[in-house]
Amino acid sequence: MSIHSSSPQTEPVSQTHEIADVQEVDCCIIGGDPAGAVLSLLLARQGIAVTLLEAHRDFDRDFRGDTLQPSAMEIMEEMGLADRLLELPHTKLRSITVRASDGSIIFSPTFTHLKTHFPSC
Ligand SMILES: Cc1cc2nc3c(=O)[nH]c(=O)nc-3n(C[C@H](O)[C@H](O)[C@H](O)COP(=O)(O)OP(=O)(O)OC[C@H]3O[C@@H](n4cnc5c(N)ncnc54)[C@H](O)[C@@H]3O)c2cc1C
Repeated sequence: MSIHSSSPQTEPVSQTHEIADVQEVDCCIIGGDPAGAVLSLLLARQGIAVTLLEAHRDFDRDFRGDTLQPSAMEIMEEMGLADRLLELPHTKLRSITVRASDGSIIFSPTFTHLKTHFPSC
């Protein structure tokens, strides 16, 4: 089976895509990064059959989730995932100091005073 599509901006271009499999699901989410993965989990917990499709087979690419801010960790805690997440190897950053070339401090936020269970990045 194949799907034919055309681009509206240029002359009609015919593309052929092979369909390897057809499945019926309640909900299909495209993209398995933070938004898609979290939504899939929340829907599945409500008993909704979800299929999550992700273009990449692995994380071997520019990874954009190097830090988890306190607010993100609060959400992980609300979802009951914080403890398992913290079992993974990680580093806790409790403050940052950015200095100018003359040594003076430009920027030096600390997270330790935040009213959160997760006062680090
Ligand atoms: C350089 C950079 C650094 C960042 N660093 C951080 C950080 O340290 N901490 C932090 O919290 N946030 C960080 N962010 C922000 C964070 O990456 C985004 O907020 C987050 O990735 C958004 O998630 P998302 O699921 O909405 O979209 P995306 O992360 O863009 O996910 C979309 C997913 O959909 C998939 N996809 C797209 N099209 C298809 C398709 N047709 N079929 C199947 N799959 C498809 C893609 O492969 C991708 O996995 C950073 C962003 C950038 C650009």
